[in-house]
Amino acid sequence: MRFITSPQLNNKKMSYNVNEKGYYGEFGGAYIPEMLYPNVEELRQNYLKITAEPEFQAEFDALLKDYVGRPTPLYFAERLSAMYNTKVYLKREDLCHTGAHKVNNTIGQILLAKRLGKKRIIAETGAGQHGVATATVCALMGMECIVYMGEIDIKRQAPNVARMKMLGAEVRPALSGSKTLKDATNEAIRDWINNPVDTYYIIGSVVGPHPYPDMVARFQSVISKEIKSQLLEKEGRENPDYVIACVGGGSNAAGAYYHFLDEEDVNIIAVEAAGLGVHSGESAATSALGKVGVIHGSKTLLMQTNDGQITEPYSISAGLDYPGVGPIHAHLFASKRAQFISITDVQAMDWGLKLSKLEGLIPAIESAHAFAVLDEMKFKEDDIVVINLSGRGDKDLSTYIDYFKL
Ligand SMILES: *Cc1c(COP(=O)(O)O)cnc(C)c1O
Repeated sequence: MRFITSPQLNNKKMSYNVNEKGYYGEFGGAYIPEMLYPNVEELRQNYLKITAEPEFQAEFDALLKDYVGRPTPLYFAERLSAMYNTKVYLKREDLCHTGAHKVNNTIGQILLAKRLGKKRIIAETGAGQHGVATATVCALMGMECIVYMGEIDIKRQAPNVARMKMLGAEVRPALSGSKTLKDATNEAIRDWINNPVDTYYIIGSVVGPHPYPDMVARFQSVISKEIKSQLLEKEGRENPDYVIACVGGGSNAAGAYYHFLDEEDVNIIAVEAAGLGVHSGESAATSALGKVGVIHGSKTLLMQTNDGQITEPYSISAGLDYPGVGPIHAHLFASKRAQFISITDVQAMDWGLKLSKLEGLIPAIESAHAFAVLDEMKFKEDDIVVINLSGRGDKDLSTYIDYFKL
């Protein structure tokens, strides 16, 4: 283990953001094997410098606009608002190319990889959504792409495996352990250690060793940047009263909160997956059940047994089925800046159907969790409530079909 400090970072204003040592409060850091140090250190030394370059920003913005389809609309949900007697706006990340917010981050990271002179991209994926977003940008840039995926996940997520193959990626099965996400992560790390010079590792959420959580949050922060200007245009003010997002690792949430973190008048609501119930033993409600631990190279809240073994998480939504949260969210929880709410499979699935019938929007099951907050909290008539609709439900159709016997 070797600890990485980051002297050139300066975020004094953003008290809920990462500090110069790579920490959010007590969470974060870079707890990595010695052999990964050169790779992570190269990234840490360069990410702020490169992403601040005007040419980088121009290329990033142009691809977000013409390739991803940004800005995504901020849609006033009239029927939903009438039903709950408050003003509900939906940030339409479901309209991004590939169907969710994840591509905002993979575009940013592949541009960075190119500028670092890397020729080969690796990633790991659980449900396959991050793998698809990575394979997409590799095709776009003509770069070699290897996606590690647990053998069991490969069987469970056949459509996403097919997408990655069509996009030219090689999907390598992780055959060890439980043959799921954490084993795929181990394989990706092993690959990176063996190929430190030409290979870049694209991580898909605000997790991993510093600087990944901060870097991914910055790429996703376009979400809250757009919300601000869109609300100003529609309501005459930049800040909503509430911003609500689901948290798996926490990248769509970090992006939706980013520019509101220091705006004390904005209430931040984080929604976790309670699965069959927080205390059922089948849940992914990390803030309710987690203790401080280290996962994927950062110190954060983590579901674990008394002797520190990671507990197998469960949620009907593959994207929320993760035993930790990014360190920024652990800090937002511990500092009470954000309010955490956990929502069960049943509540989320009911909202999947309800939002479809009410607004003509079939949400990703992850995103459907966020809407259930409308039943859990009371909002005032003139409150402005922004819900981040992180993705669309096409990928979840077979789960919806089985669940509702459609
Ligand atoms: C992957 C995914 C999530 C969860 O990931 P975060 O990093 O927590 O945002 C949420 N919603 C959708 C639609 C996803 O694809």
